Amino acid sequence: MYDIHQIRADFPILGRTVYGKPLVYLDNGATTQKPRQVVEAITNEYYNTNANVHRGVHFLSQQATELHEASRETVRRFINARSTNEIVFTRGTTESINLLAATFCQSQMQAGDEVIISTMEHHSNIVPWQLQATQRGIVLRVIPMDDRGELLLDEYERLFTPKTKLVSIAHVSNVLGTVNPVKEMIATAHAHGVPVLVDGAQSIPHMPVDVQALDADFYVFSGHKVYGPTGVGVLYGKEDWLDKLPPYQGGGEMIQHVSFEKTTFNELPFKFEAGTPDYIGTTGLAKALDYVSALGMDTIAAYEHELTRYATRRLKEIPGMRIFGESEQKGSVISFLVGNIHHFDLGTLLDRLGIAVRTGHHCAQPLMTRLGIEGTVRASFGLYNTKEEVDALVAGIDRVRKMF
Ligand code: PMP
Repeated sequence: MYDIHQIRADFPILGRTVYGKPLVYLDNGATTQKPRQVVEAITNEYYNTNANVHRGVHFLSQQATELHEASRETVRRFINARSTNEIVFTRGTTESINLLAATFCQSQMQAGDEVIISTMEHHSNIVPWQLQATQRGIVLRVIPMDDRGELLLDEYERLFTPKTKLVSIAHVSNVLGTVNPVKEMIATAHAHGVPVLVDGAQSIPHMPVDVQALDADFYVFSGHKVYGPTGVGVLYGKEDWLDKLPPYQGGGEMIQHVSFEKTTFNELPFKFEAGTPDYIGTTGLAKALDYVSALGMDTIAAYEHELTRYATRRLKEIPGMRIFGESEQKGSVISFLVGNIHHFDLGTLLDRLGIAVRTGHHCAQPLMTRLGIEGTVRASFGLYNTKEEVDALVAGIDRVRKMF
């Protein structure tokens, strides 16, 4: 039973007003709101259990360590990894990709080797590779897409050469909502002996993800997009792969023994976790994953699917509406433009009505270039949004449209 009133009551911020209007929060692709359970777990740890983790002999340190490592187990279970050794805590998707780009390119690639990405990647799955490209002479190849926002899988297959060393693709596009067929794409890459990194920033909050079923070699996501706190995220990697990669940053936690002559590194996953980890953040993240798990990821997916279908239908009733991204498999993101109204003007005027949407290029400028536009308005839904909020969005757009 999906009790939307009960769910909304868990998120105190949804009860506030902006400019005297009830908040309609439709910017979940950027970040999600936090349920009481997450905030309380964080407060509780600061009030009662705060101490630096690992190596501490005292009571609080051991308790904080147990909480932190239990959170790692919660993440493992949530994505069905084989072992907690495969769960590396990071600051978020961006840091996870940078970690992998740096360590993978350093140890597994030479000048002239190639990484395949796609047209619809977020800048955080483009620029880290470009930094490596500049430093190490690595080449980026890009999977094209059709006008509906689906990747061209035949073209993808043709991009593989003996120099292809990695594929790095979004599971769900943050602009088009396209759910890419990553399982199939991973199988294709594996047939060429190439591992795959999946950017799960926009999939983890919205659908069940099983990294073993996908056979993903690496899978990354951010806590704050799945109702958890900011500043914490995950890099999942198959143990064999993580073992082959060198450390990313140096410092405490990641070492076994240090002398001025030679340092040996800690075992997985600590080899990649230099410095004091965000152990409070990991507690919050685990609480958030418990929260969505209790609702059921399948249930959330079905609810959001119905909401997005309804929103698409209602938005299409608006004269001059252009929706970008009409793939067969689509997540709960709708990007659009209306007539000649600039996306920034539309977003600003909707804001005055209490409706929070995102405007601009959504950190996907190459995709904007492919679409031949500068930006869009984006409504992105979360597990607490309602049809009434969709109606408010549609009425708001209509009002703005009549002003122009
Ligand atoms: N990839 C995708 C597909 C995203 O939507 C985002 C966030 N908008 C990111 C990566 C980056 O996530 P973060 O800023 O949390 O590191």
